[in-house]
Amino acid sequence: MKSTARVVVIGGGIAGCSTLYHLTKEGWSDVVLVERNELTSGTTWHSAAQVTNFGMNQTMVGLKTHSINLYRELAANTEYPVGYHYGDGGIRLANTEAQMDGYRHFVSQAQGMGVEFEVIDAEECARRHPLISTDNLVGGLWDPHDGDIDPAQLCQALAFHARKAGAEVYRNTPVTGLTQHKDDSWTVHTEHGDIDCEIVVNACGYRVNEVGAMMGVEHPVASMEHQYFLTEDIPAIKEAGHRMPLLRCPISDYYSRQEKNGLLVGFYEQDCKTWGMDGIDPNFVNALCPDDLDRVMDVLEGAFARMPALQETGIRAIVNGPITYTIDGAPLVGPIPGKRNAFCIIGLRAGLGEGGGHGWMLAQQIVHGEACYDTWCIDPRRFTGHANVELTALKAIEDYQNEFRFHFPHENRPAGRFAKTTPLTPILQAEGAEFTPVNGWERADYFKPSPDFTETHGYRFTEVFDVVAAEVKSLQSGVGITEVNGFNRFEISGDGAQDWLDTMFCGNITRKAGRIGLGYMLNHHGLIKAEATIANLPDGRIWYGSAAASEFHDMDWLTAHAPEGITVKSLTNDMTIIVIAGPKSRDVLSKAARGDWSAAAFPWLSVRKASIGIAPAVVMSVSFSGELAYEIHVPNASLFAAWTALRAAGADHGMTLFGARAVESMRLEKGYRHWKADLITEFDPFESDLSRFVKMEKADFIGKEALQKRLDAPSGKTFATFKVASDIAPAQPGASIRANGKIIGTVTSADWGHRVNENLAMGFLDEGHSVVTIDILGAAVAAEVVSPARYDPKLELPRS
Ligand SMILES: Cc1cc2nc3c(=O)[nH]c(=O)nc-3n(C[C@H](O)[C@H](O)[C@H](O)COP(=O)(O)OP(=O)(O)OC[C@H]3O[C@@H](n4cnc5c(N)ncnc54)[C@H](O)[C@@H]3O)c2cc1C
Repeated sequence: MKSTARVVVIGGGIAGCSTLYHLTKEGWSDVVLVERNELTSGTTWHSAAQVTNFGMNQTMVGLKTHSINLYRELAANTEYPVGYHYGDGGIRLANTEAQMDGYRHFVSQAQGMGVEFEVIDAEECARRHPLISTDNLVGGLWDPHDGDIDPAQLCQALAFHARKAGAEVYRNTPVTGLTQHKDDSWTVHTEHGDIDCEIVVNACGYRVNEVGAMMGVEHPVASMEHQYFLTEDIPAIKEAGHRMPLLRCPISDYYSRQEKNGLLVGFYEQDCKTWGMDGIDPNFVNALCPDDLDRVMDVLEGAFARMPALQETGIRAIVNGPITYTIDGAPLVGPIPGKRNAFCIIGLRAGLGEGGGHGWMLAQQIVHGEACYDTWCIDPRRFTGHANVELTALKAIEDYQNEFRFHFPHENRPAGRFAKTTPLTPILQAEGAEFTPVNGWERADYFKPSPDFTETHGYRFTEVFDVVAAEVKSLQSGVGITEVNGFNRFEISGDGAQDWLDTMFCGNITRKAGRIGLGYMLNHHGLIKAEATIANLPDGRIWYGSAAASEFHDMDWLTAHAPEGITVKSLTNDMTIIVIAGPKSRDVLSKAARGDWSAAAFPWLSVRKASIGIAPAVVMSVSFSGELAYEIHVPNASLFAAWTALRAAGADHGMTLFGARAVESMRLEKGYRHWKADLITEFDPFESDLSRFVKMEKADFIGKEALQKRLDAPSGKTFATFKVASDIAPAQPGASIRANGKIIGTVTSADWGHRVNENLAMGFLDEGHSVVTIDILGAAVAAEVVSPARYDPKLELPRS
């Protein structure tokens, strides 16, 4: 066994084998994989191994396409062939029009990645799958690429090709410990000796937290027991003359695919079970959990009703094995938060279908620092401090119970809620707030007009449209108040902090005391990494503010580059923002806090300390809504006091409440972006229409050299705001933008602008188009490129 290597991948299931293979493909051959038993002896060996192209966003579609292309290539390789039923086709069923609306959107989204799906009606579903009945069926989504692969052969083939490229694989070599050294390198301790390496990768499946504990980390991953059975031969399958398409059913929560001349049918029962929460038997190797078909009777009946042939067919074998879940159902593929030179590829619940793509994404991140797609949807840092195994288990159960019922826009499910709250949460709840979780924080989304008000979730405008319109109108003519909790806030200190920050941002950030500036950080490829406001407090402190979900991500990036003597301290969990917005917000602030708050004394983009009633606060004159507005940053201990003072001061001015949905509508009218929706690592600041925030004449900043190269060879992509000719539905992120029918771009965010009364969307597209169409509910809807600031383009209101 080698005693040194550049990378040690721990775990020889699909996750580890794919990572090893792709590291060699990216050009690193000094890489090893260590596996405690035999390859695939964890979950992988007994996987149903279905491989679909379906994904909830474009990154997922893209990485699954990579899996499919790779598996086809491996299957065709005669040196080490792999059994792969590519292209049996698959149907996701639907029994509601709302699900069909979703499928229409997914078709458009996939087309943007070069992948064709098809929405078909119930009769067509039955024509393509001769075993199914059309009872209670509206239609389905057809994936022509669907199929299944032999999981063991796939992993052996990946290991074989990786070995050929120089990688080494050590079987029967359990990792027993990990030591990190001062230079951030690692020693991996195994039962057969130590390996010193630069980088470690945790790919340990359901044993993820045994290895996590070796580096002091608890990964938010929990396992669920999952069962399928294999039937005897079904004569109708032989008679069909073609392989049966795969089925996935959100009505009764099962899937099926052909196995020999029978079916494999898997179940997602309501009475489901977590597994391994209190530790895993070290001898659970190549092993299964005891079968328990009684548990799945509820969903079994649905499968029998849909495929009556099952009622006359015997069961040949039952498989029950552990499958890993995360908090939002997507895996954790990328840097381990708070660690250096440590990565993970864990929490894979559809690892055979996705594993080829995830290994590719991870290898690119390890070798190049970033992958070709924005990987935020799988980034381990998207969850922060609240993300523990207990919360994950609750969300895993909920997710399992809804396996094929995708989330509708704005749909938040109830499990594991209220993980992070503030003293204002019960107050807002009493005021009728409907909450939406943002990185675990419960934020008021809108205020219900009556206690029994509920939203019918779907892809069209809902009952909430009028509620948001009223919230916006009210603050636009008077003053509104809301809480923005969890906003990411770091205090940066140390000699030379300003000079250092200057090298981190691609533009000039104000150094003046009492002033605030917005800036963008780039990665080493010159692409957008982060967006932050820098506030220079009059007492010399520097506050860095960014999106709620960015806490771990931005902390990693800043501390990785901070020179000795600079400290970055998180205040995120200690402080909350109260926002007051609208023409009367100055009157309210003047009443609640001593001092001169006139535009002359405290102009737009200023910051100062104040007391709001008796509550200590830092007040910033910034506005995401575009109105005259103030952000009031208050320590959580004083939040109630500040809120009470502002509410009392606002009473004379008819102050009303507004929520995050109103903010979303207003920021679109202003052309303001959302990090990881409109600001992603696939585009540079010029393509993102942020040239005013770039100063190429600056001596240096991270990504400058790469950005210059991109400027010299422009991609022809740009970012724009669109006015869309529909009053029944907003566009959706991921929807395709077309010119003369050809796809030229993708929507990144969209909503109705209530102040300008326009249906608005934002997105990236090829340059040179002013009249386009945007796919909405399966139709090409006319849209025109408009100037981004639809409301108060001269910024007169926040300056007033
Ligand atoms: C019943 C069932 C059906 C499924 N059907 C599908 C499907 O149709 N399509 C699909 O895409 N997915 C499916 N899945 C999910 C899929 O099988 C998993 O996502 C995938 O196999 C996970 O692979 P992995 O490499 O992450 O984990 P594993 O396969 O568990 O691999 C982890 C490896 O790490 C090793 N390891 C652990 N600890 C150590 C240590 N200390 N030192 C060294 N090595 C260690 C283990 O021995 C193991 O080999 C199914 C899962 C189940 C249970």
